[in-house]
Amino acid sequence: MPLKEARVSVLDHGFLYGDGIYETMRVYEGVVFMIGEHIKRLEHSAFHIGLNLPKSPDEIKVSIYETLEANGLKDAYLRLTVSRGEGPIGLDPSLCPRPTYFILAEELKPYPQRFYNDGISAVITKTRRNLKEAINPQIKSLNFLNNILAKVEAIKARADEAIMLNHEGHLAEGTVTNIFFVRAKDGGRAICTPSLDCGILEGITRNVVIELARRLDMRLIEGEFTEEDLHRAQEVFLTSTIMEVMPVGKVDEVKYPVGEVTKLLAAEYKKEVAAYVKETKASGPSIWGYE
Ligand code: PMP
Repeated sequence: MPLKEARVSVLDHGFLYGDGIYETMRVYEGVVFMIGEHIKRLEHSAFHIGLNLPKSPDEIKVSIYETLEANGLKDAYLRLTVSRGEGPIGLDPSLCPRPTYFILAEELKPYPQRFYNDGISAVITKTRRNLKEAINPQIKSLNFLNNILAKVEAIKARADEAIMLNHEGHLAEGTVTNIFFVRAKDGGRAICTPSLDCGILEGITRNVVIELARRLDMRLIEGEFTEEDLHRAQEVFLTSTIMEVMPVGKVDEVKYPVGEVTKLLAAEYKKEVAAYVKETKASGPSIWGYE
């Protein structure tokens, strides 16, 4: 339906309490990259908040491609949202018998090329990432105030992204990105990224980049890192579905070059997307068959 006609009740618990989940997907030439992974993560989020998805994975896939087709979009941003649904005031999820399900599709507005050429800026914020024992960041929930508070700090500091530490002071993630950095190690180089135990979202782009690094025989360390580790890094980059591999030119007052490792992984990521698109197009007689 046209965006102007799309309405959600003021009694929707997604609106009242941030009770719901979502996925952001990127579409390349009419193909939803890693659609299976996104649906799996949606199911994982739904499981963790005790929400019964109103559709099966295959039905979700069809509804995603129907939305794309209805909008005539080939390179797009997609947001699939499932909230607890409409129900009387009160926190009990059983008050809401029917989840609200919608998919929003828009033409992709890519980040400016200069961001990729020069790297974006980031600041480490005072706002800490949610404790995973409170609201687990592995649940991709509508409850985004933690990230918004960090983003507000970044905006005040005129930085493009906010990097949050966890409650123990270890690096966690950006507001909408996972973080990687490159450091000298044993005469060579290692790519470092906070482990899932640090309390972060398991980014789909993060997983692709980890896989690419492994295939390239790069040394990869998933672990606990500090602010100082990041400041002393040789290269820093962020990952997300929409940004892909985004170089960081500055964290706080420390500057970094857009280095070789970042450039290599960014190029390999693009190749991976191209291969996925080609394979998907070759495998399905119709767009509904796309995996
Ligand atoms: N962390 C957070 C908090 C996010 O919101 C996102 C964006 N979904 C990411 C990381 C990156 O995840 P992905 O690569 O799956 O887009």
